[in-house]
Amino acid sequence: MTTPPQHVVLLVFAIGLLFGSFLNVCISRLPEHRSIVNPRSHCAECGHPIRWMDNVPILSWVLLRARCRDCDAPISWRYPAVEAAVGLWFAVCANRALYSINIGPILPAVNGLGKTISERDAIAALMIAILGFLLIGLMVMDWQAHRLPDAFTLTGTAIGFMLVFVQAYFLAPGEGDVVLNTTHQLRLSSPGSFASQGNVFLTGPETLILSRIAAIAGAALILLLVRWGYKALRKRDGMGLGDVKLLAMIAAFLGFSEALLALFAGVIAASVYGILLILRRRVSGASKLPLGSFLAAGGLFSALLGPRILAWYMELLR
Ligand SMILES: [Zn+2]
Repeated sequence: MTTPPQHVVLLVFAIGLLFGSFLNVCISRLPEHRSIVNPRSHCAECGHPIRWMDNVPILSWVLLRARCRDCDAPISWRYPAVEAAVGLWFAVCANRALYSINIGPILPAVNGLGKTISERDAIAALMIAILGFLLIGLMVMDWQAHRLPDAFTLTGTAIGFMLVFVQAYFLAPGEGDVVLNTTHQLRLSSPGSFASQGNVFLTGPETLILSRIAAIAGAALILLLVRWGYKALRKRDGMGLGDVKLLAMIAAFLGFSEALLALFAGVIAASVYGILLILRRRVSGASKLPLGSFLAAGGLFSALLGPRILAWYMELLR
């Protein structure tokens, strides 16, 4: 018995809405260092606990007409927007895994092309889903509260890095091996190598994990240098450490090139926004831009389109 892929995408969308609902709690409480578990969700205005029927993602907000049932205080459109965003993001990830062209042995479920889903596509989709959840949260938190909590950035970096080990486990034998010299038989093989005839300098898993460590460190270093440079020139902090950790997190999930693309896209978006603000005379030169929000948006962009854009760019360089 197989489930039609559209049903799976719909189910994942519903799960995403629930995660979005939880993300709203994190967004409201983490920047203020409040627990995300206790107390139960309540109205910020009158403190009345929220009934289960008023806590249905998106639907309740619409039915309540964006007002608290008890005190009539307005409820921000941020709540349904975050729920919808996470729901859609999860659905896109599921859709991608289901309609991937890779053929895989396990996960007997479903595939839009009538094939089984590979573990690799499933893990890749899971990683993008988790990254999106974290980035949407960070984007809103930096915008509203000018904070990028470690509970998201550092924890996210650790989760991303651990999932890279799972990815490494599912590499095919010999895949990603770094071979030093293909013409000579060096008889040099690292422990755990699938290749028996030598010449393998680093196995695929070693390459993946080591390069990801370098990616995390490199991404953090770039922004640390920018931060130091700005401080040396302007004698004040221009960028928080949160931005540094945020880019390191993107690198942990996606790799170095994708993190660079996220930074690039984020800086362009922030510049355009800054110029628009100046044109509308809303700011002075000392105004603060929530750079983290733009970096997070750049991360979402890179997670969705990064591999395609980078492949196109590499073609250009040839
Ligand atoms: Zn209320």
